[in-house]
Amino acid sequence: MDLSYGDEAEAFRVELRSFLEEHRAKAPQGGSGLGGRPDQRTMDWQRLLIEGGYAARNVPREYGGFGAPPDPLTRIVIDEEFARAGVSRGISGQGPDMLVPTLLEHGSEAQRQAYIGQTIQGEMVWCQGYSEPEAGSDLASVRTNAVLEGDDFVVTGHKIWTTSAHFSDMMFCLVRTEPEKARHAGLSYLLLPMNSPGISVHPLMTMTGKAEFNQVFFDSVRVPRQNLVGERGDGWKIANATLVHERNMLGSASQIDALFQALLRLARTETRDGRPLIEDPLLRDRLMRLQGEVLAARWHASRLLSTKLRGEPAGVAGLVVKLTGCELAHQIASTALEFLGELGTLYEHSPHERAGGFWAFQQMFSLGLIIGGGTAQIQKNIISERGLGLPRETRGDT
Ligand SMILES: Cc1cc2nc3c(=O)[nH]c(=O)nc-3n(C[C@H](O)[C@H](O)[C@H](O)COP(=O)(O)OP(=O)(O)OC[C@H]3O[C@@H](n4cnc5c(N)ncnc54)[C@H](O)[C@@H]3O)c2cc1C
Repeated sequence: MDLSYGDEAEAFRVELRSFLEEHRAKAPQGGSGLGGRPDQRTMDWQRLLIEGGYAARNVPREYGGFGAPPDPLTRIVIDEEFARAGVSRGISGQGPDMLVPTLLEHGSEAQRQAYIGQTIQGEMVWCQGYSEPEAGSDLASVRTNAVLEGDDFVVTGHKIWTTSAHFSDMMFCLVRTEPEKARHAGLSYLLLPMNSPGISVHPLMTMTGKAEFNQVFFDSVRVPRQNLVGERGDGWKIANATLVHERNMLGSASQIDALFQALLRLARTETRDGRPLIEDPLLRDRLMRLQGEVLAARWHASRLLSTKLRGEPAGVAGLVVKLTGCELAHQIASTALEFLGELGTLYEHSPHERAGGFWAFQQMFSLGLIIGGGTAQIQKNIISERGLGLPRETRGDT
């Protein structure tokens, strides 16, 4: 079996390595995060990455991307080299990673032209308005309604757990437009400007101590009809397309690899009794077990990409990504906290904290990601029912 990547991919690696060496001082520290809008430094870095073909690589040129055809080996090399260098991948999140691919699949030409370029550049920030107090795991229970009046939809209702809504420009939103139809058939997918009159945003604190998500109230908010993605009643199908991208983003092998590389750096630099942690055989054993799982995630991602390029269905292999990836990220962060011992429990504002409390933050944040985008229990239901063909669970409405 030949596991080498071939001459072309290795030449690309050399080019990327020299790019990273030359430009790494320009990269933002700590990625774009959820703390706020991308700053100028992050946007400049993103522009450089897109020009070089290291971000938005497969987004067509007419929408501001690099325009390369999808290629699993190039993708792997990019993942490996950014993780190895410990350098920011630029701007990620709900806009670039979830909405942009959804618009490429389901959006109108006018919507692609209006939104994709600004989104991948970080100029337009998006939030996801799906969950409601009575509609989380059971998303088809969405009640926020949108009534067509002339050329506008008039939206009234309440979303919750809306990450980044307090600094977003736009929301992609699941609303009920056909109340008379069956639950799943009555939904539509709207693109909603967050500065529209009638929207109020109330931040909610997560366990990280930061206000990352929000409640959003809509009081007769007018949204132009052309902001509907697909047709009226297509909302369930399109929202699920976005969810597939969300689950792949949350369980992303490259992010997990980058987190694991950070753990390795920690094990090399932190000391116990004067020796680097990585020299402790028990801790090395823990690292090797995790490394095995990280490598499995990486090769699994490559296999999925190859399957996609061949036009074959991913099947159950595609359904496990979110569950396994988010749990692995949480294990890596928890391992880092154990390695740090008492220091690991220090969070913000302690003079002894490590890396600005990065690992304590990651440990709490990654726990939230096991819930967001569909909980671990719901992922197991999906894997068993849709992937393995086991009998469907009994639901209240069936
Ligand atoms: C950090 C974070 C960020 C988020 N960001 C967003 C966002 O930007 N936009 C957005 O729309 N939403 C967001 N969410 C909301 C998220 O999608 C929901 O929290 C999630 O889908 C679960 O819904 P719920 O909170 O209503 O819990 P519920 O659906 O009430 O579930 C409660 C518990 O019951 C379990 N459960 C429910 N139904 C079943 C079942 N059929 N079988 C087995 N177990 C079941 C669940 O697994 C869970 O443990 C975010 C959540 C978190 C934690």
